[in-house]
Amino acid sequence: MQTISQNESNFKSLGEMFFDVLKNNLDPNKIAMIDKVTKKQINYGELLDQSLKLAEELKALGVNKGDFVGIVSENRPEYFVPVLACFFIGATIHPINGIYLLGELKAAFDISKPKIIFATEKSLNKVQQLQTDTNYIANIINFDGNYLNIIRERSGLTKDEIVVNCDHDSAVILNSSGTTGLAKGVILTQNNIKCSFNYLKYPYFDINPDNVVIGMMPNFHVFGFILGIGNIHNLSLMVILQKFQPNQYCEIIEEYNVTSLHIVPSIGVFLAKHPIVENYDFSSVKDIISGAAPLGVEIQRVLEQRFNCKMRQIYGLTETCGGITIVPMGDKSKIGSVGKRLPWVDIKIIDIDTKEEMAQGGIGEVCVKTAQNMKGYLNMEEESKSMYLEDGYLCTGDIGYVDEDGEIFIVDRLKELIKYKGFQVSPSELEDILNSHEDIVESGVVGLPDEKAGELPMAFVVKRENVDLSEYAVKEFLAGHVSLHKQLHGGVKFVKEIPKGASGKILRKTLRQLIR
Ligand code: ATP
Ligand code: MG
Repeated sequence: MQTISQNESNFKSLGEMFFDVLKNNLDPNKIAMIDKVTKKQINYGELLDQSLKLAEELKALGVNKGDFVGIVSENRPEYFVPVLACFFIGATIHPINGIYLLGELKAAFDISKPKIIFATEKSLNKVQQLQTDTNYIANIINFDGNYLNIIRERSGLTKDEIVVNCDHDSAVILNSSGTTGLAKGVILTQNNIKCSFNYLKYPYFDINPDNVVIGMMPNFHVFGFILGIGNIHNLSLMVILQKFQPNQYCEIIEEYNVTSLHIVPSIGVFLAKHPIVENYDFSSVKDIISGAAPLGVEIQRVLEQRFNCKMRQIYGLTETCGGITIVPMGDKSKIGSVGKRLPWVDIKIIDIDTKEEMAQGGIGEVCVKTAQNMKGYLNMEEESKSMYLEDGYLCTGDIGYVDEDGEIFIVDRLKELIKYKGFQVSPSELEDILNSHEDIVESGVVGLPDEKAGELPMAFVVKRENVDLSEYAVKEFLAGHVSLHKQLHGGVKFVKEIPKGASGKILRKTLRQLIR
């Protein structure tokens, strides 16, 4: 395994690194983030100024190195101000989904016990209630309220007041998506985040400051968080869309000449299939990267044709601080591949039962060893330990293989494979084929429990409005593409929408509940 390249920034703490990038920026008036709908914006000069002022305020409120600070907010232009402020004072930031209900917020924050929580008009009531119900929240800073006074009144931390962190200090707690169970608080260190900056550059990402990207992936999720701080590090423009809305998403691309799209497969399905996409000029888009869930090959084919550019995939986990494999720019990787391992990442495939490493080409669980691997789950020692093999590899819970060229293919999650009469059936493979049907908007496949067979593949299908699509037609369509054991023996259920988590993944646990 190649060690992380020791570029200059590796010797600095995140606070020093961002201070230098922003201080040396020659164009402080350049917009860093703008909200498509509210048109609120923050430029790079304001971003540094406000972060230093907030850092001073947090210190005055008693936040020290090692303390936790929470954020309960939708994506917005000031979102990364408290993130940078925490980097400057060496505190650990814990961003949480703004739409969490009180109980969910309490469960998440009872673990980190933040002294200060950043809230917004939308989340303020919940956060205030949480403050009453608990004893750890000393202050609430409301982006739509007292935040503005702080920015007006503070003068800001100076460079020599920036706290220098060690590489193993916790920088951020990011919750996993909770796709397979309860979301876990993943501790990512200074070094984990700095390592991720090694893939936020050419040939993995385009770091040209003239780039324009869309900030729609939630910032509390590893994909959105890393893209957000990566955007700041690149000094490029991010156009925020708080919630996916087809027309607004397309308008942003045309209006701001977006250069790179960072998507999850459900957005890929939209871009590949939705008729309104034809109404917009997407010629500025030069690069599309999909991550967070398996991207079907059928959808990938359509997207590559429609956008006349290669669709690249990135694969990673919250526990690995995002990407561990990626298709580099200009690469001719095979369709469906998530690329090769990054040079500082070691990957091995193990047999699910014996845990022995498999011969090249064998299909088994993907395990990873890298400086990007998390420090552990916050306050979950047993769960943290159980993620690792004795030799230090982290088990991803994903099934995949490495082909003869070193390209990695993710088949599905171990927990989500359907077991039909001893065969393993991948729901995402079936969804991909179903989604290629012209009358199907999207689909979700799960195993229907069955005494004899174990589980029967069954599909939830959203059909195009006003079309006549029968269960029989759906079954026959799939039967034309796959062998007998993968067919929809469990039937088809037509639904209005497929439930998805905040990071855009299909929530098969919710679909399974709909069976009952
Ligand atoms: P939880 O661990 O809480 O159940 P989660 O695993 O969905 O939720 P994340 O850390 O957001 O939480 O997601 C990591 C998972 O996303 C990976 O384990 C993998 O299953 C999936 N994934 C990410 N990128 C890809 C990709 N390119 N192709 C296939 N699957 C992917
Ligand atoms: Mg996971």
